[in-house]
Amino acid sequence: MAMMKVLFATSEVAPLIKTGGLADVSGALPAALRAIGVDVRVLLPGYTVVMAQCQSYEVVATFATLVGFPTARLLSGKMANGVPLFVLDCPALYQRDGGPYQDARGNDWPDNAKRFGLLSKVAAILGGRATPLAWHPNLVHCNDWQTGLAPAYLHYKRSAVPSIITLHNLAFQGNFPPATVRALGLPASSFGVAGLEFHGFMSFLKAGMFYADHITTVSPNYAKEIQQDELGFGMQGLLADRSHELTGILNGIDVVEWNAASDSHLAKHYDSADLSGKAINKQAVQKSMGLAVAPDVPLLGVVSRFTHQKGLDLLLEIAPRLMELPVQLAMLGSGDAAMQQAARDLAERYPGKIAVMIGFSEALSHQIEAGADMFIMPSRFEPCGLNQMYSQRYGTPPIVHATGGLSDSVVDCNPESLKDGSASGFVFSGMTANNLFNTILRAVNLYREPKDWLTLCKNCMAKDFSWEASAKAYLAVYRKVLLR
Ligand code: ADP
Repeated sequence: MAMMKVLFATSEVAPLIKTGGLADVSGALPAALRAIGVDVRVLLPGYTVVMAQCQSYEVVATFATLVGFPTARLLSGKMANGVPLFVLDCPALYQRDGGPYQDARGNDWPDNAKRFGLLSKVAAILGGRATPLAWHPNLVHCNDWQTGLAPAYLHYKRSAVPSIITLHNLAFQGNFPPATVRALGLPASSFGVAGLEFHGFMSFLKAGMFYADHITTVSPNYAKEIQQDELGFGMQGLLADRSHELTGILNGIDVVEWNAASDSHLAKHYDSADLSGKAINKQAVQKSMGLAVAPDVPLLGVVSRFTHQKGLDLLLEIAPRLMELPVQLAMLGSGDAAMQQAARDLAERYPGKIAVMIGFSEALSHQIEAGADMFIMPSRFEPCGLNQMYSQRYGTPPIVHATGGLSDSVVDCNPESLKDGSASGFVFSGMTANNLFNTILRAVNLYREPKDWLTLCKNCMAKDFSWEASAKAYLAVYRKVLLR
């Protein structure tokens, strides 16, 4: 069989441009798919920061006559990891200061429908018969709302290739006024419940989920949850209708970047055969964050956006009770102003026991993952989640709420799971402060049993969170779609 060719359309790719998990997936998955023999090429908008990094790229196509869009060019080159990249250069839409979706003040760009309409349109052109390129994909893989219109455009082309869409976060849907349908050159008939309408709006994400040949999301458990009212964000009906064409595939992590045996951010390297270096990393975190240096006091770590989604309000609520135990808390993150203030207040009230660093620090995030004894992640919902995988890889058992990808990636510790080697953290159901408190207590009690604790830490480190398994699962979905 000839090599399968896939166009991977996305609005962010690490390390070129990143606002969230989508960039990590777009940076890693195409490379992992290429490693198993799929010819994946990525399509990305030419934001100012991207253009600056792609100066040697060559122009391979010009789109001058797309109705409703300014002239654009397609550049072709290779990313540092060897993955071929098409950059969609359209200065009128992408060359501006600010982020990919918002200006510097945090307001959505007013022309986002056009900006990501063009990205979707070009993805569809490259997957259609009239593509200007010699390279013709067998399938277009879209991601989130920003490329959600591509399956709709493909649907209205003759002899276009099939498409799939991956949902990384259902909370962002790309909903615009109905007039957008026409402005972006889609037929008026597409605007209906059996089409891209969502409660009177034209929805990029709904379009993707309705017209794509298959839908994937970033964990098996989240794939089930989004078919229900609580976490479906209004799309649960459509997703339940298409449940036989909906697959959850757990994200991988970058196991080179996240490797305790070679991580340049760490005070001391360690591995699963010898975890003694962990104590030195703990001491380094205690010192650098201003905590009391106390080797035997369990150190709880948090690295997170401070938002309602992440459930840190529960942790802040129980902090005074926690402080009656011999534990310390090290928090890194930023976001919600009230949560930031509450965290700062706690650090002031419990000096040496609670430390808070508001901001973004790659180095400190690695240091906390390595130096903490336990990692706290009580998310209300979590499509996949990365930090609970990083912490397991660093031998730091996570304490998580049973939701989304957290359920799929952490096995609750009990006598049986500890014995059979599957235990890898502490999982609680029921999103209450008491449940979180009792679960931390459970962890702290086991910490007092050094032999069991070491077994748990080693179980964590033995788990395989590499992208290889995920890439194989995506390949299986591609095959299924192409065989239809
Ligand atoms: P989400 O994408 O919902 O924020 P994830 O756990 O999937 O949550 O991924 C978060 C990513 O961002 C991880 O790589 C995490 O280490 C990183 N991160 C979040 N906040 C910070 C911070 N303040 N400093 C450094 N890294 C952070």
